[in-house]
Amino acid sequence: MDTHTAQLATVILRPGEVERVLAGHPWIYAGSVSKLTRPVEDGAVVQVKDHRQRFLGMGVYNSKSKINVRLLSSERVTLDEAFFEARIRAALAVRTKYMPQATTFRAVNAESDFLSGLIVDKYEDVLVLQTSSLGMDKLKPVILAALRKIFSPRAIVERNDAASRKFEGLPEFNGLIEGALPPAPADAPVQTTTEVWVQMNGLRWVADLLAGHKTGLYLDQQVNQQLVSGFCPGLRVLDCFTFQGGFALHAARAGAQQVVALDQSADALAAAARNAKANGLEAKCEFVCANAFDWLKNETAARPHEKCVPRFDVVILDPPSFTRNRQAVGDAMRGYKEIHLRALKLLRPGGVLATFCCSHHVDAVKFQETIVDASVDARRRIRRVATYSQAPDHPMIPAIAETEYLKGFAFEMAD
Ligand code: SAH
Repeated sequence: MDTHTAQLATVILRPGEVERVLAGHPWIYAGSVSKLTRPVEDGAVVQVKDHRQRFLGMGVYNSKSKINVRLLSSERVTLDEAFFEARIRAALAVRTKYMPQATTFRAVNAESDFLSGLIVDKYEDVLVLQTSSLGMDKLKPVILAALRKIFSPRAIVERNDAASRKFEGLPEFNGLIEGALPPAPADAPVQTTTEVWVQMNGLRWVADLLAGHKTGLYLDQQVNQQLVSGFCPGLRVLDCFTFQGGFALHAARAGAQQVVALDQSADALAAAARNAKANGLEAKCEFVCANAFDWLKNETAARPHEKCVPRFDVVILDPPSFTRNRQAVGDAMRGYKEIHLRALKLLRPGGVLATFCCSHHVDAVKFQETIVDASVDARRRIRRVATYSQAPDHPMIPAIAETEYLKGFAFEMAD
């Protein structure tokens, strides 16, 4: 792909649209564009200038997307293997610095690493690639070359089933790009050959790279799982929305007396049970396949004049995002309030509620207000003792609000 700026088409912005770009936001919406100097095909590299012809940066163009241009550099550069190698090495340096022990982590987190449209997850020596813009998809050959050079991976897998691809006019595709995955683990369900075992925080986890949630695991909770487990020694722990046992196994390893872990997905719980066994923690863990709303309601239902007996010392809530869009926020908040109300009723005085919200549409203030509302209804007084965020392999860029989505709190329940 020829990216010499002299031959590139130029996207000229309307007056008044430059501030966001100068502040560091890489998205240029169709509405901000005044004109294109000549027709270009979707996915092509373009340069961007303001209405006074001042150069702003280089990016990839797509007329089919509401985001017409995703800027990739504020310099005049060629988007080649060397460009990607430098960017990916810089991203890796952040992981090495802030998560020095980690061997499984998100190596490139799109806008967080100044590579809008590209995600690379590292599961030990296997990489999983996601490209969510047409331009990034077209640049795959040079990206793959850079990844090979930096990581010498055993295999590279493509996990391109993200819903956002359809906004770019891209097809869904999941498959092995190159290399060979390790042989299926001995305890794997026969039909799958896309599982790998990885280490996180010194525990072993199975991840299905082609069929699991996200790219296999919720890597963004890696630091929080370890932190929350610090509250658990000797105690009774409830992990709602456990997925493959993330918080539950950390709690068990930290010395919890007993862990009850809930999820509505039987497949996720089957993996959780395999994980528990692989770490010698199965005796402490009870996995329950249930809808958390129903289960919590049932556990806290009391007949008239009866009181619900609190029976957990630590309750962890890590639900999926209940909000795909802004319109769904109202319903989502009712859902969040409901589970917090029930969770608080199950918590013993002096116990800890560790709770997370991964919806970008619900900020920390709104999330906390909902928890406070629930505590008032439950007639419990709570004290905040910790706040959480996404792990440093999902860094946040203050100028790009979309890079921040995961927030969490720990509340101690007063006597
Ligand atoms: N805590 C996990 C990640 C949770 S992801 C970790 O640290 O890895 C959210 C999980 O909630 C998914 O596994 C999904 O199957 C489950 N889930 C979604 N809705 C649910 C419901 N109503 N009841 C129980 N589990 C639910």
